[in-house]
Amino acid sequence: MPGQPALLAQPSLCVINIETPALEVVNLWKKYGSNQALSGTSFAVAPGERLALLGPNGAGKTTLIRSMCGRVRPDEGQVHLFGRSIRDPDVLLQLGVVPQDLAIYLDLTAKENLECFGQLHGLRSRRLRERVSWALKWIGLEDRANELTSRFSGGMKRRVNIACGVLHRPSILLLDEPTVGVDPQSRQRIFDMLDELNQQGTSIVLTTHHLDEAETRSDRIVIIDYGKVVADGSIEKLIATTIGARREVAIETSGILVAAPRGLEWNSARNRFVCFVDNVVEELPGILERIQQVGGTITDLEVHQPNLHHVFLHLTGKELRE
Ligand code: ATP
Repeated sequence: MPGQPALLAQPSLCVINIETPALEVVNLWKKYGSNQALSGTSFAVAPGERLALLGPNGAGKTTLIRSMCGRVRPDEGQVHLFGRSIRDPDVLLQLGVVPQDLAIYLDLTAKENLECFGQLHGLRSRRLRERVSWALKWIGLEDRANELTSRFSGGMKRRVNIACGVLHRPSILLLDEPTVGVDPQSRQRIFDMLDELNQQGTSIVLTTHHLDEAETRSDRIVIIDYGKVVADGSIEKLIATTIGARREVAIETSGILVAAPRGLEWNSARNRFVCFVDNVVEELPGILERIQQVGGTITDLEVHQPNLHHVFLHLTGKELRE
């Protein structure tokens, strides 16, 4: 099967203790040759939680997701699902995985793909038919069920890909960039699908390069850099422990400036000067005066509430995709 986890065993009864974390990653280390991908990564996911995993390019997110589903063997550390090692095949059946690269057969229809992956997850006869029919409805492709997936748009293929990972009703779903290369409307739809699963109790762990998705569609955010957790908490907690009460001020100017205004940075992407201030009311008049002193005329001014973008820059010194 392309890119899907090996879940060949028949589903069997697995006793879940809801007191223990749904997923626990303990001190994971992984090196590929001279590339240190994970350097002691640890965090836990509560049952029913939606967790977004963020990090700059090469931070170790994919290695982490692959270690969590047993597709990469870490050099050190453990992964537990509901308190039991992922090496236990019974407990692995509680896990659903949606890999970053599309892992569906383009020469099969949507329904055939779902049937095929359902069988791989141990579903048979009536149960298989029920789950395939549920999945087609869930992804909104009932009317396209018998069409080859090669004719589908990128967003539709992604939806089929996601459905293939949840046919066996996992308690935890891991998704590596489920909305990569997908238009905003399809992204919205995918998140609505995931919210529906989450409301039924499934814990969701996903990596994303869209900070807005992480901010609005998760309960908790874990930021990793150089294979280590550098922040872990709700968006409110992350802001409080990094940016605090500071505000970003962005100022557009016209006119030729004889020098750079003191304490302001030029942001060429936004075509504005930017700075952070602790007290807008007290500090703003001085900032505006410094711009005028070097010959600038202020044409626009924005004061931004801190958001995940500011937290990410503060912690990693990098944009999410550089
Ligand atoms: P991206 O956001 O770019 O997808 P990532 O956060 O998912 O990156 P990983 O793909 O886990 O990061 O890579 C972490 C580090 O390990 C990087 O330095 C990468 O080059 C390296 N790496 C990953 N897979 C391999 C491999 N198979 N062989 C050698 N190095 C690897």
